[in-house]
Amino acid sequence: MKQLRSIGLLMLAVASMSGGAFAQEPNGAPPEPENDRWIVQFEGAPSENEIDALISYTGGQTVKRLHLINGRAVRGPESMVATLRTSILVKRVEKDVIRKATAKPAPSQTIPWGVDRIDAEKAWRTSTGSGVKVAVLDTGISLSHPDLKDNINTNCSYNTIDPSKAPEDQNGHGSHVAGTIAAVHNGIGVVGVAPKATLCAVQVLSASGWGYCSDIIEGLSWVIGKGIKVANMSYGGSELCSGEKEALDSADAAGITLVAAAGNNYGGAVDWPAKHEKVIAVTAVGQKTDGTLYFASFSSKGPEVDLTAPGVSIPSTYKKAGYKTLSGTSMAAPHVSGVAALVLEKNPGFNPADVKKRLEQTAECLGSLGSCSTNGTKNWLQGWGLVDACKAVNGTSCQ
Ligand code: CA
Repeated sequence: MKQLRSIGLLMLAVASMSGGAFAQEPNGAPPEPENDRWIVQFEGAPSENEIDALISYTGGQTVKRLHLINGRAVRGPESMVATLRTSILVKRVEKDVIRKATAKPAPSQTIPWGVDRIDAEKAWRTSTGSGVKVAVLDTGISLSHPDLKDNINTNCSYNTIDPSKAPEDQNGHGSHVAGTIAAVHNGIGVVGVAPKATLCAVQVLSASGWGYCSDIIEGLSWVIGKGIKVANMSYGGSELCSGEKEALDSADAAGITLVAAAGNNYGGAVDWPAKHEKVIAVTAVGQKTDGTLYFASFSSKGPEVDLTAPGVSIPSTYKKAGYKTLSGTSMAAPHVSGVAALVLEKNPGFNPADVKKRLEQTAECLGSLGSCSTNGTKNWLQGWGLVDACKAVNGTSCQ
Protein backbone atom coordinates (compact mmCIF):
# COMPACT_ATOMS: atom_id res chain seq x y z
CA MET A 1 0.00 0.00 0.00
CA LYS A 2 2.73 2.36 0.90
CA GLN A 3 4.33 1.87 -2.44
CA LEU A 4 1.13 2.60 -4.35
CA ARG A 5 0.46 5.71 -2.33
CA SER A 6 3.85 6.99 -2.98
CA ILE A 7 3.59 6.52 -6.70
CA GLY A 8 0.28 8.34 -6.68
CA LEU A 9 1.86 11.25 -4.93
CA LEU A 10 4.60 11.28 -7.45
CA MET A 11 2.24 11.47 -10.35
CA LEU A 12 0.37 14.25 -8.74
CA ALA A 13 3.49 16.16 -8.13
CA VAL A 14 4.64 15.78 -11.67
CA ALA A 15 1.24 16.62 -13.14
CA SER A 16 1.23 19.96 -11.33
CA MET A 17 4.36 21.15 -13.09
CA SER A 18 4.23 24.51 -14.71
CA GLY A 19 5.05 24.24 -18.37
CA GLY A 20 7.91 25.47 -20.41
CA ALA A 21 10.70 26.39 -18.00
CA PHE A 22 13.24 23.98 -19.33
CA ALA A 23 16.83 24.43 -18.40
CA GLN A 24 18.77 25.66 -21.37
CA GLU A 25 22.28 24.71 -22.26
CA PRO A 26 24.52 27.67 -22.99
CA ASN A 27 25.13 28.10 -26.68
CA GLY A 28 28.48 28.36 -28.36
CA ALA A 29 31.14 26.69 -26.25
CA PRO A 30 31.53 22.96 -26.73
CA PRO A 31 30.15 21.02 -23.78
CA GLU A 32 32.49 19.90 -21.04
CA PRO A 33 32.84 16.13 -20.83
CA GLU A 34 29.88 14.42 -19.12
CA ASN A 35 28.04 17.73 -18.77
CA ASP A 36 24.73 15.93 -19.31
CA ARG A 37 24.96 14.68 -15.74
CA TRP A 38 23.00 16.23 -12.89
CA ILE A 39 22.89 15.78 -9.14
CA VAL A 40 19.39 15.50 -7.68
CA GLN A 41 18.82 15.76 -3.93
CA PHE A 42 15.55 14.74 -2.35
CA GLU A 43 13.30 16.15 0.37
CA GLY A 44 12.54 13.89 3.31
CA ALA A 45 13.06 10.19 2.81
CA PRO A 46 11.44 8.94 -0.37
CA SER A 47 11.99 5.25 -1.02
CA GLU A 48 14.32 3.98 -3.69
CA ASN A 49 11.29 2.82 -5.65
CA GLU A 50 9.70 6.25 -5.48
CA ILE A 51 12.88 7.83 -6.75
CA ASP A 52 13.26 5.21 -9.50
CA ALA A 53 9.75 5.93 -10.66
CA LEU A 54 10.27 9.69 -10.68
CA ILE A 55 13.50 9.50 -12.64
CA SER A 56 12.06 7.00 -15.05
CA TYR A 57 9.06 9.28 -15.60
CA THR A 58 11.29 12.22 -16.52
CA GLY A 59 13.18 10.10 -19.06
CA GLY A 60 16.33 10.06 -16.95
CA GLN A 61 18.66 7.32 -15.82
CA THR A 62 20.41 6.89 -12.52
CA VAL A 63 24.20 7.00 -12.87
CA LYS A 64 24.97 6.51 -9.19
CA ARG A 65 23.31 6.65 -5.81
CA LEU A 66 24.57 9.27 -3.35
CA HIS A 67 23.23 8.19 0.04
CA LEU A 68 25.44 10.62 1.91
CA ILE A 69 23.52 13.59 0.50
CA ASN A 70 20.18 11.84 -0.02
CA GLY A 71 20.59 12.15 -3.74
CA ARG A 72 21.48 10.62 -7.06
CA ALA A 73 23.55 11.47 -10.06
CA VAL A 74 21.35 11.23 -13.12
CA ARG A 75 21.65 11.61 -16.85
CA GLY A 76 18.77 12.45 -19.16
CA PRO A 77 17.14 14.73 -21.72
CA GLU A 78 16.90 18.49 -21.31
CA SER A 79 13.31 18.29 -20.19
CA MET A 80 14.27 16.07 -17.26
CA VAL A 81 15.74 18.86 -15.18
CA ALA A 82 12.75 21.13 -15.33
CA THR A 83 10.43 18.24 -14.61
CA LEU A 84 12.44 17.16 -11.58
CA ARG A 85 12.52 20.70 -10.22
CA THR A 86 8.72 20.75 -10.06
CA SER A 87 8.55 17.60 -7.97
CA ILE A 88 7.80 18.01 -4.30
CA LEU A 89 10.21 15.14 -3.63
CA VAL A 90 13.10 17.11 -5.01
CA LYS A 91 15.06 19.56 -2.92
CA ARG A 92 17.66 20.56 -5.47
CA VAL A 93 18.88 19.78 -9.01
CA GLU A 94 22.29 21.02 -9.94
CA LYS A 95 24.79 20.38 -12.65
CA ASP A 96 27.22 17.55 -11.93
CA VAL A 97 30.17 19.89 -12.42
CA ILE A 98 33.63 18.75 -13.43
CA ARG A 99 36.61 18.64 -11.10
CA LYS A 100 40.07 18.30 -12.60
CA ALA A 101 43.13 16.52 -11.23
CA THR A 102 45.46 19.03 -9.65
CA ALA A 103 48.70 17.16 -10.23
CA LYS A 104 51.32 19.63 -11.35
CA PRO A 105 52.27 19.50 -15.00
CA ALA A 106 55.70 18.07 -15.79
CA PRO A 107 58.42 20.33 -14.41
CA SER A 108 59.31 22.94 -16.93
CA GLN A 109 62.73 23.06 -18.50
CA THR A 110 65.44 25.17 -16.92
CA ILE A 111 68.60 26.36 -18.61
CA PRO A 112 71.54 25.28 -16.43
CA TRP A 113 73.64 28.23 -15.30
CA GLY A 114 76.69 27.08 -17.26
CA VAL A 115 74.76 26.87 -20.53
CA ASP A 116 73.45 30.36 -19.89
CA ARG A 117 76.82 31.79 -18.80
CA ILE A 118 78.63 30.77 -21.97
CA ASP A 119 75.75 32.25 -24.03
CA ALA A 120 74.81 28.98 -25.69
CA GLU A 121 71.15 30.00 -25.85
CA LYS A 122 72.15 33.07 -27.85
CA ALA A 123 74.14 30.87 -30.22
CA TRP A 124 71.04 28.74 -30.92
CA ARG A 125 69.74 31.48 -33.21
CA THR A 126 72.58 30.49 -35.52
CA SER A 127 73.45 26.90 -34.60
CA THR A 128 72.10 24.09 -32.42
CA GLY A 129 74.73 21.52 -33.36
CA SER A 130 72.22 19.79 -35.62
CA GLY A 131 73.69 16.79 -37.39
CA VAL A 132 77.05 16.98 -35.61
CA LYS A 133 77.99 13.68 -33.99
CA VAL A 134 79.62 13.95 -30.58
CA ALA A 135 81.09 10.83 -28.98
CA VAL A 136 80.81 10.69 -25.20
CA LEU A 137 83.64 8.40 -24.11
CA ASP A 138 82.42 7.62 -20.64
CA THR A 139 80.33 5.23 -18.51
CA GLY A 140 77.71 5.00 -21.27
CA ILE A 141 74.54 7.08 -21.52
CA SER A 142 71.05 6.46 -20.15
CA LEU A 143 69.70 5.40 -23.55
CA SER A 144 66.01 5.84 -22.78
CA HIS A 145 66.30 9.07 -20.79
CA PRO A 146 63.41 11.33 -21.89
CA ASP A 147 65.74 14.30 -22.06
CA LEU A 148 68.46 12.50 -24.07
CA LYS A 149 67.04 9.66 -26.15
CA ASP A 150 65.98 11.77 -29.13
CA ASN A 151 69.59 12.84 -29.61
CA ILE A 152 71.23 9.42 -29.15
CA ASN A 153 72.31 7.47 -32.20
CA THR A 154 72.80 3.81 -31.27
CA ASN A 155 74.60 3.11 -34.58
CA CYS A 156 77.58 5.21 -33.52
CA SER A 157 77.43 3.87 -29.95
CA TYR A 158 79.50 1.01 -28.52
CA ASN A 159 80.45 -0.66 -25.27
CA THR A 160 84.15 -1.55 -25.01
CA ILE A 161 83.73 -2.94 -21.49
CA ASP A 162 81.25 -5.57 -22.64
CA PRO A 163 80.66 -5.47 -26.39
CA SER A 164 77.71 -7.83 -26.03
CA LYS A 165 75.79 -5.17 -24.14
CA ALA A 166 74.42 -1.76 -25.04
CA PRO A 167 76.37 1.16 -23.54
CA GLU A 168 73.65 1.72 -20.94
CA ASP A 169 74.94 3.99 -18.18
CA GLN A 170 74.87 2.24 -14.79
CA ASN A 171 76.93 4.98 -13.13
CA GLY A 172 75.31 8.32 -14.03
CA HIS A 173 78.52 10.14 -14.95
CA GLY A 174 78.23 9.63 -18.69
CA SER A 175 74.57 10.65 -18.73
CA HIS A 176 75.45 13.84 -16.86
CA VAL A 177 78.18 14.69 -19.36
CA ALA A 178 75.87 13.86 -22.27
CA GLY A 179 73.15 16.18 -20.91
CA THR A 180 75.48 19.14 -20.75
CA ILE A 181 76.44 18.53 -24.38
CA ALA A 182 73.03 17.82 -25.82
CA ALA A 183 70.06 17.44 -23.48
CA VAL A 184 67.00 17.96 -25.66
CA HIS A 185 65.26 21.36 -25.91
CA ASN A 186 61.84 19.88 -25.15
CA GLY A 187 60.33 21.82 -22.27
CA ILE A 188 61.37 19.33 -19.56
CA GLY A 189 64.40 19.00 -17.33
CA VAL A 190 67.52 20.67 -18.66
CA VAL A 191 68.88 21.67 -22.05
CA GLY A 192 72.37 21.10 -23.38
CA VAL A 193 74.84 23.46 -25.03
CA ALA A 194 74.12 21.93 -28.46
CA PRO A 195 70.53 20.70 -28.08
CA LYS A 196 70.31 19.14 -31.53
CA ALA A 197 73.71 17.50 -31.67
CA THR A 198 73.82 13.72 -32.08
CA LEU A 199 75.18 11.76 -29.11
CA CYS A 200 77.25 8.61 -29.58
CA ALA A 201 77.53 6.63 -26.35
CA VAL A 202 80.99 5.05 -26.33
CA GLN A 203 81.44 3.22 -23.07
CA VAL A 204 85.08 3.07 -22.01
CA LEU A 205 84.52 3.26 -18.25
CA SER A 206 82.84 0.61 -16.12
CA ALA A 207 79.79 1.14 -13.93
CA SER A 208 82.26 1.99 -11.16
CA GLY A 209 83.62 4.90 -13.21
CA TRP A 210 87.05 3.63 -14.29
CA GLY A 211 88.48 1.97 -17.36
CA TYR A 212 91.78 0.55 -18.60
CA CYS A 213 93.86 2.48 -21.08
CA SER A 214 93.18 -0.37 -23.54
CA ASP A 215 89.43 0.23 -23.18
CA ILE A 216 90.00 3.87 -24.05
CA ILE A 217 92.18 2.98 -27.04
CA GLU A 218 89.41 0.68 -28.24
CA GLY A 219 86.91 3.52 -27.81
CA LEU A 220 89.07 5.94 -29.80
CA SER A 221 89.44 3.30 -32.48
CA TRP A 222 85.63 2.93 -32.60
CA VAL A 223 84.93 6.63 -33.12
CA ILE A 224 87.24 6.96 -36.16
CA GLY A 225 85.51 6.64 -39.52
CA LYS A 226 81.93 7.02 -38.29
CA GLY A 227 81.42 10.67 -39.10
CA ILE A 228 82.00 11.60 -35.49
CA LYS A 229 83.34 15.16 -35.26
CA VAL A 230 83.90 15.64 -31.51
CA ALA A 231 85.02 13.31 -28.72
CA ASN A 232 84.47 14.28 -25.09
CA MET A 233 86.77 12.67 -22.54
CA SER A 234 85.73 13.52 -18.99
CA TYR A 235 88.31 11.23 -17.37
CA GLY A 236 91.99 11.21 -16.71
CA GLY A 237 95.01 9.92 -14.89
CA SER A 238 98.51 11.04 -14.13
CA GLU A 239 100.36 8.17 -15.83
CA LEU A 240 101.22 8.31 -19.50
CA CYS A 241 99.80 5.58 -21.71
CA SER A 242 101.73 5.68 -24.98
CA GLY A 243 99.13 3.70 -26.88
CA GLU A 244 96.46 6.19 -25.89
CA LYS A 245 98.65 9.02 -27.12
CA GLU A 246 99.00 7.32 -30.51
CA ALA A 247 95.27 6.66 -30.66
CA LEU A 248 94.59 10.33 -29.92
CA ASP A 249 96.91 11.33 -32.77
CA SER A 250 94.98 9.02 -35.09
CA ALA A 251 91.64 10.45 -33.99
CA ASP A 252 92.92 13.98 -34.51
CA ALA A 253 94.18 13.07 -37.97
CA ALA A 254 90.75 11.60 -38.71
CA GLY A 255 89.19 15.02 -38.10
CA ILE A 256 87.86 14.51 -34.59
CA THR A 257 88.06 17.45 -32.21
CA LEU A 258 89.27 16.08 -28.88
CA VAL A 259 88.19 17.65 -25.59
CA ALA A 260 89.20 16.47 -22.11
CA ALA A 261 88.77 17.40 -18.47
CA ALA A 262 91.95 18.90 -16.99
CA GLY A 263 91.53 16.75 -13.87
CA ASN A 264 90.47 17.26 -10.26
CA ASN A 265 93.93 17.47 -8.68
CA TYR A 266 93.25 20.52 -6.47
CA GLY A 267 95.68 22.85 -8.20
CA GLY A 268 97.98 19.98 -9.17
CA ALA A 269 99.08 18.95 -12.64
CA VAL A 270 96.82 18.42 -15.63
CA ASP A 271 95.87 14.78 -16.27
CA TRP A 272 96.28 12.67 -19.37
CA PRO A 273 94.69 12.75 -21.93
CA ALA A 274 94.06 16.49 -21.40
CA LYS A 275 97.82 16.94 -21.27
CA HIS A 276 98.18 15.91 -24.92
CA GLU A 277 98.84 18.96 -27.09
CA LYS A 278 96.11 18.06 -29.58
CA VAL A 279 93.47 17.68 -26.88
CA ILE A 280 91.62 20.76 -25.63
CA ALA A 281 92.25 20.78 -21.86
CA VAL A 282 89.43 22.31 -19.82
CA THR A 283 89.52 23.53 -16.21
CA ALA A 284 86.45 24.36 -14.10
CA VAL A 285 85.01 27.59 -12.78
CA GLY A 286 82.12 28.19 -10.40
CA GLN A 287 79.77 31.13 -10.09
CA LYS A 288 79.25 33.17 -6.92
CA THR A 289 75.80 34.43 -6.00
CA ASP A 290 76.76 37.87 -7.31
CA GLY A 291 77.50 36.33 -10.71
CA THR A 292 81.29 36.55 -10.64
CA LEU A 293 83.24 33.47 -11.61
CA TYR A 294 85.98 31.85 -9.55
CA PHE A 295 88.50 29.09 -10.23
CA ALA A 296 87.22 25.81 -8.77
CA SER A 297 89.46 24.72 -5.91
CA PHE A 298 89.39 21.09 -7.05
CA SER A 299 90.49 21.84 -10.60
CA SER A 300 93.92 20.95 -11.94
CA LYS A 301 95.95 23.76 -13.47
CA GLY A 302 99.05 24.09 -15.60
CA PRO A 303 100.63 25.19 -18.86
CA GLU A 304 98.58 22.67 -20.89
CA VAL A 305 95.26 24.33 -19.99
CA ASP A 306 93.49 25.68 -23.08
CA LEU A 307 90.09 26.84 -21.85
CA THR A 308 87.88 26.96 -18.79
CA ALA A 309 84.15 26.28 -18.48
CA PRO A 310 81.45 25.99 -15.80
CA GLY A 311 82.10 22.98 -13.59
CA VAL A 312 80.68 23.71 -10.12
CA SER A 313 77.11 22.76 -9.20
CA ILE A 314 76.10 21.81 -12.72
CA PRO A 315 72.58 20.36 -13.07
CA SER A 316 72.18 17.77 -15.80
CA THR A 317 70.67 14.44 -16.72
CA TYR A 318 71.62 11.30 -14.79
CA LYS A 319 71.19 7.54 -15.01
CA LYS A 320 67.74 6.06 -15.58
CA ALA A 321 65.45 9.07 -16.03
CA GLY A 322 67.14 11.12 -13.33
CA TYR A 323 68.76 14.50 -12.91
CA LYS A 324 71.61 15.46 -10.62
CA THR A 325 73.77 18.47 -9.78
CA LEU A 326 77.48 17.61 -9.87
CA SER A 327 80.84 19.36 -9.77
CA GLY A 328 84.14 18.54 -11.46
CA THR A 329 86.25 19.24 -14.50
CA SER A 330 84.19 16.34 -15.93
CA MET A 331 81.30 18.80 -16.00
CA ALA A 332 83.37 21.60 -17.58
CA ALA A 333 84.71 19.66 -20.59
CA PRO A 334 81.28 18.89 -22.08
CA HIS A 335 80.47 22.62 -22.23
CA VAL A 336 83.43 22.94 -24.59
CA SER A 337 82.45 19.83 -26.56
CA GLY A 338 78.97 21.29 -27.00
CA VAL A 339 80.39 24.56 -28.29
CA ALA A 340 82.63 22.63 -30.70
CA ALA A 341 79.47 20.98 -32.07
CA LEU A 342 77.83 24.38 -32.52
CA VAL A 343 80.86 25.67 -34.40
CA LEU A 344 81.03 22.56 -36.59
CA GLU A 345 77.40 22.77 -37.68
CA LYS A 346 78.12 26.25 -38.98
CA ASN A 347 81.62 25.39 -40.26
CA PRO A 348 81.52 21.75 -41.42
CA GLY A 349 84.90 22.09 -43.13
CA PHE A 350 86.78 22.94 -39.95
CA ASN A 351 89.47 20.49 -38.90
CA PRO A 352 90.29 20.00 -35.19
CA ALA A 353 92.98 22.69 -35.27
CA ASP A 354 90.50 25.16 -36.79
CA VAL A 355 87.95 24.38 -34.08
CA LYS A 356 90.53 24.71 -31.30
CA LYS A 357 91.75 28.01 -32.69
CA ARG A 358 88.21 29.37 -33.03
CA LEU A 359 87.32 28.42 -29.45
CA GLU A 360 90.51 29.95 -28.09
CA GLN A 361 90.32 33.18 -30.09
CA THR A 362 86.73 33.85 -29.05
CA ALA A 363 87.09 32.85 -25.38
CA GLU A 364 86.20 35.38 -22.70
CA CYS A 365 89.28 36.08 -20.59
CA LEU A 366 88.21 36.23 -16.96
CA GLY A 367 90.06 39.16 -15.44
CA SER A 368 89.43 37.80 -11.96
CA LEU A 369 91.68 34.86 -12.89
CA GLY A 370 94.44 37.03 -14.33
CA SER A 371 95.72 37.88 -17.77
CA CYS A 372 95.11 35.23 -20.44
CA SER A 373 98.19 35.74 -22.59
CA THR A 374 101.46 37.13 -21.35
CA ASN A 375 104.22 36.95 -23.98
CA GLY A 376 102.40 34.03 -25.55
CA THR A 377 102.21 32.10 -22.30
CA LYS A 378 98.72 30.97 -21.43
CA ASN A 379 97.09 31.45 -18.07
CA TRP A 380 97.46 28.26 -16.06
CA LEU A 381 93.97 28.52 -14.58
CA GLN A 382 91.86 29.42 -17.59
CA GLY A 383 94.05 29.07 -20.66
CA TRP A 384 92.62 31.52 -23.21
CA GLY A 385 89.57 32.05 -21.06
CA LEU A 386 85.97 30.94 -20.62
CA VAL A 387 84.55 29.27 -23.70
CA ASP A 388 82.00 31.59 -25.37
CA ALA A 389 79.42 29.72 -27.45
CA CYS A 390 77.82 32.65 -29.17
CA LYS A 391 81.07 34.33 -30.09
CA ALA A 392 82.62 31.05 -31.23
CA VAL A 393 79.72 30.35 -33.56
CA ASN A 394 79.41 33.84 -34.99
CA GLY A 395 83.05 34.86 -34.83
CA THR A 396 82.07 38.16 -33.24
CA SER A 397 80.54 39.39 -30.01
CA CYS A 398 76.89 38.67 -29.35
CA GLN A 399 74.28 40.89 -27.77
CA1 CA B 1 65.10 19.30 -21.87
